Order: sequence, then C-alpha cells, then structure tokens
Amino acid sequence: MALTEVVIAGGGFAGLACAKALAAQNIPVVVLERKKAAGIGMHTTGIIVKECADEFAIPDHLTRKVTDVRLYAPSLKSVELHSRDYFFLTTDTPALMQYLSDDAVQAGAVILYDTPYESAILANERINVNNGSFSCQFLIGADGPRSKVADHFSLGQNTKFLLGAEAEYTGLNLPDTNAFYCFLDQQLAHGYLGWVIPGVGVTQIGIAQRMPRRPDIDAFVERMKPLFDFTNTSVVARRGGLIPVGGLVRPFARGNVILLGDSAGIVSPLTAGGIHTALRYGKILGETIANYLHNGGAHPVQRLEHIYPRFYFKQMLRLTYERFTPDWMLNFAFTNPLFKSAASTVFFKKKNLK
Ligand SMILES: Cc1cc2nc3c(=O)[nH]c(=O)nc-3n(C[C@H](O)[C@H](O)[C@H](O)COP(=O)(O)OP(=O)(O)OC[C@H]3O[C@@H](n4cnc5c(N)ncnc54)[C@H](O)[C@@H]3O)c2cc1C
Repeated sequence: MALTEVVIAGGGFAGLACAKALAAQNIPVVVLERKKAAGIGMHTTGIIVKECADEFAIPDHLTRKVTDVRLYAPSLKSVELHSRDYFFLTTDTPALMQYLSDDAVQAGAVILYDTPYESAILANERINVNNGSFSCQFLIGADGPRSKVADHFSLGQNTKFLLGAEAEYTGLNLPDTNAFYCFLDQQLAHGYLGWVIPGVGVTQIGIAQRMPRRPDIDAFVERMKPLFDFTNTSVVARRGGLIPVGGLVRPFARGNVILLGDSAGIVSPLTAGGIHTALRYGKILGETIANYLHNGGAHPVQRLEHIYPRFYFKQMLRLTYERFTPDWMLNFAFTNPLFKSAASTVFFKKKNLK
C-alpha cells in the first residue's frame, strides 16, 4: 500500500490545478486518471474567458485570441458585440492538458495515467483507495460530471445537464476571423446555443442542448451553410460530452472526501463554462489543504462552504431562457435596442451576474 496525503480522482482541469497547488506546498499527492495519457479524448471546446487568462498564465502558443461576438437570432438576424478590453482564448486543448500535467509533475505531483479510481473506504481516520493500493488523508473527487467518488460516499450528484457536440474543421474560411459566432435557436439548441469559433489551426463548430434532447450537429452545419462556405472543408476531430448546469451539488463533501470541478457542479449555468472555476477552486482547495496540514488552518470544507459559487441568479436566468423564451420571442428581442446591451453583459461582464 502506498501512503500519501492526498489522492485526486481525475486529472482534468480541476484535478491538475489542485495537484499542482498541493505539490508546490510539499504535500504528497497522487492523481489517478483513467485516460492513457494527458490530452486524449477531450470533451471540451476549451474556450478560456478573460478572467481565467488573467488569473492563470497560459502559454501564448497554445491559444488564439478572439475579441468580438456575432450573435444570431433564430431568423439569422445578427448583432455585433464588441468590448474594448474583453477577449476569449480558444485553445489547443490537448496540448493545454499536457502543459497542465507537466506543470503539476514539475511541482512534484505523481500522476498515474491509465489508472482509474475504482473504490475507497474509510479506515482508521484514513481513506483506503482502490482496494488498499493507496492510503490517504484526503480524497478529492475531480472525476467529472458523473462522479464515482460522489456515488461511493453518498455525496450530491449532478442532475441537470446540457449535452454538447463539436466538430473541428479545416479549410473553413470565416468572414471575420476575430469573431465568436453564436446562434440562438431553441429548436436545434434548446436551452443553450450553437457556436462557430476560430480555434488554433482549426475552426470549431458545436452545439449543445438541454438533456434529454440530443444535439444534432449535422443539422446545425446545414443551417450554417447560407453563412459559411463548406466546399473545401474536412472534419478533423469530433468531441462532446455532458455539462452540468444545476449548480453546486449538496453535500459536496463528507469528512475529508471533497468534490471539485464538474463533480461539484461548479459550472456556470448560464454560459456553461467550467474551466475557470475548475482551475480556480482546484488551486484554492490545494492551498487550503496544505495550510490545514502544515499550519492547522481552517478545514478545507469550511473554506469551500464560504467560497464555492452558488449561481442562484444565473440559474434563474437559465430557467427563464430555457422555459419562457421561444424562438419568436428571441427574433423579436433582436429588434429591441436594449437587447444588445443585455447580451453584452452576458458575454463581457459575466462577473456582474452572480
Ligand atoms: C462539449 C463541451 C464543451 C465545453 N466547452 C467549454 C468551454 O469552451 N469553456 C469552458 O470554460 N468550459 C467548457 N465546458 C465545460 C468544461 O469542459 C468543464 O467544466 C471542465 O472540463 C471541468 O473540469 P474538471 O476537471 O472538473 O472535469 P473534466 O475536465 O471532465 O475532468 C475529469 C477527469 O476525470 C477523469 N475521470 C473520470 N472518471 C474517472 C475515474 N473513475 N478514475 C480516474 N479518472 C476519471 C476523466 O477522464 C477526466 O480526465 C465544456 C464542456 C463540454 C462537454
């Protein structure tokens, strides 16, 4: 049996950020990741918002900056949104995961790929993981939206999801290579939107719907054909997955077993962005566990109770959009000058919408 202080189930954004922060404070940490290597089988579009880029140093060569938004109504009428100081970064997401993994290893974390988290039991104030392969003080469930750790310890589980699907194209020339094209359409993308965005060396086209509906990416691409020329294009990758949008799960911890990232449901119900919160709270949790173990500081669960985002207002906005905003109303909204300013707030001033 290997003794360590912390085992993290899941080496995604949340798990790697937490592992790096722990290792940087000399806390022994092992990450169990079921994928065979970093960056394979990605499910995310990987767009990083400005707030995240400001907080975490992400190498320039892994990203592409996009500053404008073109928002389309179901009728395909559009408005252009621009902010002087806001931007999005599209990323070479597999390479970014490799970078985050190398960074955590360099800090001293042990990352075991091709090693799924399978089970855990409490034993004499410690936690035995994977039939006694590891013994630790803290077990962190950073194993994504359908968390096994949550299941094994009867923690809260995500129940509301968007299902997203994306294709990466080469050869697609966008009229504006600096724009994030977003399409509101409650038939094809109920409760969310479709997107076309210049990525790193590719164009990313995707769509998400509130489950149980399933996204039909081919139907979405058909709809895009009047706007973009698909003649000489090829699909070079496809990806997709679940996005939890029901807010923070309860309980998110039991003793020293703590959920983090998508497992904890800390994804914005409005924008469906979860990378920033995964990195941010992963780092904070790592630092807080280190402070608890080294200095007898506050228990990490106490700290998270105060700072984990609840997203009450964003959940209300999601519900209103999902249930009470049919396509005819969206088309009508685009004729109202106030709509542009409301849309700009959602895209560029999200932090004002707690
Ligand atoms: C289609 C789609 C598009 C998205 N686009 C964006 C976007 O553009 N911007 C944004 O901010 N957010 C986006 N999101 C959300 C974002 O990807 C997630 O919020 C983010 O990845 C959460 O990070 P995480 O580390 O908590 O979970 P994950 O990234 O899901 O990582 C969990 C890790 O745990 C591993 N794992 C699972 N089970 C086990 C197990 N039993 N044992 C070991 N390992 C396990 C998985 O292999 C995975 O590596 C998108 C999501 C989807 C599905």
